[in-house]
Amino acid sequence: MKAEKRLLTVHIQRFQPGDVKPRMQTFQVEASSTNRLVDVLRKIKEEQDDTLTWRSSCEHGICGSDGVNVNGRNTLACQVLVGNLPDAITIKPLPGLKVVKDLVNDQSQLFEKYKLVKPWLIPKADPPAQNQERIQMPAEYELYEPFARCILCFCCSSACPSTKRGDELTPAIIMAGLKQCLDSRDGGLEERRAILQSETGTDRCRTYFECSAACPKEIPVAEAIARAKRL
Ligand code: SF4
Repeated sequence: MKAEKRLLTVHIQRFQPGDVKPRMQTFQVEASSTNRLVDVLRKIKEEQDDTLTWRSSCEHGICGSDGVNVNGRNTLACQVLVGNLPDAITIKPLPGLKVVKDLVNDQSQLFEKYKLVKPWLIPKADPPAQNQERIQMPAEYELYEPFARCILCFCCSSACPSTKRGDELTPAIIMAGLKQCLDSRDGGLEERRAILQSETGTDRCRTYFECSAACPKEIPVAEAIARAKRL
């Protein structure tokens, strides 16, 4: 992409601890078409308002920490190029989650739910002899590979219309439990099935496909939920 200068109008939802409700603030920013949205946020912070707050770490689509809602769509701020955006942008935190400050969501409840599906290996066999590995063939790995690409950004969980009561496991977490159940080395299916298929698990899914549409890693999340229903 040839770099071009763009003048963006950026509307950002602001919220400080103690505020009764969020407010919108508008910035004019000159950016290159090859800049990412996270670069635009940093430019605003460095040049116009150093109180602007968002969360990011690797900024290369791996850590999953900079999930935001851009013009109504959940995405990662580090994966959106200015060249692919319109001149006016509205940035909000991921909807449906408590806001800590500005664009930063509180993900602690989601990580508490994450533990419920035991997203770790529950070995189905005794440990291998010393210095030996639990062998898995490539074809066995392929069974869950798409779901292992999840970076826990929770863009899907936030986008799901079926998770508005607050007690739902949510798509990312159901998929994490499913992924472990599909691992050929794992023996925890019975332990996980009850929670995955509970009233707050797959029972709530109405197959809107918003989870798949929101995933910045292009993971077929809705397919994972469907497979979890059939476990
Ligand atoms: Fe993020 Fe996709 Fe994982 Fe959902 S499935 S948490 S959208 S990476």
